[in-house]
Amino acid sequence: MLIYLDGKLVPKEEAKISVFDHGFLYGDGCFEGIRVYDGNIFRLEEHIDRLYESAKTLALDIPLSHAEMTQAVLDTVAANQKRDVYVRLVVSRGFGDLGIDPDKCPKPTVVVIADDISLYPQKFYDEGIALVTASVRRIPMQCLDPRIKSLNYLNNILAKIEAKKAGCVEAIMLNIRGRVAECTADNLFIMKNGELKTPDLLEGALGGITRSAVIDIAEQKGMIVDETRMGLHDIYNADECFLTGTGAEIVPVVNVDQRIIGDGKPGPVTMELLDAYRTLRTTEGAKVQYDAVEAG
Ligand code: PMP
Repeated sequence: MLIYLDGKLVPKEEAKISVFDHGFLYGDGCFEGIRVYDGNIFRLEEHIDRLYESAKTLALDIPLSHAEMTQAVLDTVAANQKRDVYVRLVVSRGFGDLGIDPDKCPKPTVVVIADDISLYPQKFYDEGIALVTASVRRIPMQCLDPRIKSLNYLNNILAKIEAKKAGCVEAIMLNIRGRVAECTADNLFIMKNGELKTPDLLEGALGGITRSAVIDIAEQKGMIVDETRMGLHDIYNADECFLTGTGAEIVPVVNVDQRIIGDGKPGPVTMELLDAYRTLRTTEGAKVQYDAVEAG
């Protein structure tokens, strides 16, 4: 496996970064998770834009232009000769001293990894999954805007631990006002009375690329999409519920906090959206050129 590390494609064994890297010491940095479907990188431009937006808010100057970063991703996928792969793009503050001062870090570290993805079992899509609500709340925007896809995922990890303890793979995270924000690594949608609803990003959610693709698909189908506020009451009483994410795509949710959602089966609109999403992701995207990319 070849890893892109600061401008070079190097074998996995040689892809090492300093223990003084502030990404390691402090979670100081940002990242992206991207899928490649049959040689098409899904919504690469949106992912690159989101990465640069995260970095901007973190006052982190990425030492590559958007075009260079895009090329780095394309080259890494091509170099590994994989047509279906998961790409992890990481930019950290880089190495510094043991203090938190980012000014002591002269150069951000840029890493691109193209690795196999472990997918959810088919059963999740056929039967739907159960969620619980985590007691840990989403970090409020006043502290760290959840729209930043930062290297600091402790808040989400604590909620994920709660999910697993309850026998679930995902948990709903509420904001400090008690309204629904998102899940630990996925966005959340409901269908109610023929309308598709999802928490507004200012409720404390990451602007998911899958979320926005689902909104695009739904709008193209003429559906009403409402980015809004919602409480657990709205989720429990929804006709359908599903979550979205790059890895998960669209997963039906049939049980939340021991309440059965709708008729307890994946909803028809959920399945229609999943079908449309699966068509879209193989037809749209930046094409990888699988010819001579040299390790450097
Ligand atoms: N929310 C969080 C907290 C995430 O980490 C992710 C990414 N896994 C998502 C939502 C979904 O975003 P995307 O559709 O861009 O993968």
